[in-house]
Amino acid sequence: MKTYQVDENGYYGEFGGAYVPEILHQCVEDLRNTYLKVLESASFKEEFDQLLRDYVGRPSPLYLAKRLSKRYGCKIYLKREDLNHTGAHKINNTIGQILLARRMGKKRIIAETGAGQHGVATATVCALMDMECVVYMGKTDVERQHANVQKMEMLGATVVPVTSGNMTLKDATNEAIRDWCCHPSDTYYIIGSTVGPHPYPDMVARLQSVISAEIKRQLLEQEGRDHPDYLIACVGGGSNAAGTIYHFIDDERVKIVLAEAGGLGITSGKSAATIQLGKKGIIHGARTLVMQNEDGQIEEPYSISAGLDYPGIGPIHANLYTTRRARILAVNDDEALAAAFELTRLEGIIPALESAHALGALAKVDFKPEDVVVLTVSGRGDKDMDTYIKHKMA
Ligand SMILES: *Cc1c(COP(=O)(O)O)cnc(C)c1O
Repeated sequence: MKTYQVDENGYYGEFGGAYVPEILHQCVEDLRNTYLKVLESASFKEEFDQLLRDYVGRPSPLYLAKRLSKRYGCKIYLKREDLNHTGAHKINNTIGQILLARRMGKKRIIAETGAGQHGVATATVCALMDMECVVYMGKTDVERQHANVQKMEMLGATVVPVTSGNMTLKDATNEAIRDWCCHPSDTYYIIGSTVGPHPYPDMVARLQSVISAEIKRQLLEQEGRDHPDYLIACVGGGSNAAGTIYHFIDDERVKIVLAEAGGLGITSGKSAATIQLGKKGIIHGARTLVMQNEDGQIEEPYSISAGLDYPGIGPIHANLYTTRRARILAVNDDEALAAAFELTRLEGIIPALESAHALGALAKVDFKPEDVVVLTVSGRGDKDMDTYIKHKMA
């Protein structure tokens, strides 16, 4: 059977792999030899499931949004990752990886963060597990996302402002990789999305796959069938999308629609539509689609949503796009803002700006009245209130 899951060499079609400096080769190899054994062990599963239930608050509800459904002429269910502890899906992954790090005997946790959401999720589980935590964050982002910096510090993490490059996520990631190279034996690097060298994309997808496992059960209960006609999610690096589609990826009855950040428009020069604008290249240890200029220099992405402006994309998603398994739509800043206000007024749910891009995709798809659509609301909008107020609509 044709599969869109990772192959034994860590590739999704022509994308993926592990392109790391010599000094990290052994670390990545250790991780590769360990992660499946741990993730599939009974003791890990038990501890992971219990924390997801009692600490994160899972299962997250699958909510039939009646007024939104009426607006788009189909049946729309929202998968409510916004209701998780710390306000987004990212905690599913950080809990899983810290449990793995402990089982590998690591003492020190490092992470990169852009908007600060992954940094907060990592600092949270480090507090919970009493582990040392260092978070690399571009200096520009430290200034833009001050509330998250304060949260990380209150949680006991050390936030290191990165002053190289444009001082944003890509630079923070480079710095985290540099740290890992200096402390390969005692340090575990928690990557926040389905990016980086194999086995990270597969590991993060597996840890987030609880989202689609729940969708399956909840749909069967509420709709009498275990699969939707459409799955919709936003993509930054791709982890909430990967979790949403994981158990449906090889089921061709299910159409997959992914929303990336169009910024001011994909031809405007200010965009983060990596899949549509990217060319094949290597970024942060994986071969994927990368926003780059003619010389292969990485181009700075732009989006109103700090969680979506990464110049790469998970190899899973690059493969879904090139094989046409998924439809990728660019949703621009103004469309995402309008969709956020629409959801708020129709359903009383203020979504994260990232999730608003998934909602913005609804207007671009022709649904039939009988279509069952599941859309993942990856996070809540508290962190985006300043942006929403600035762009307030009548
Ligand atoms: C980080 C973030 C994203 C983007 O990351 P993915 O790995 O693509 O899921 C999307 N939504 C929210 C709420 C986030 O915090």
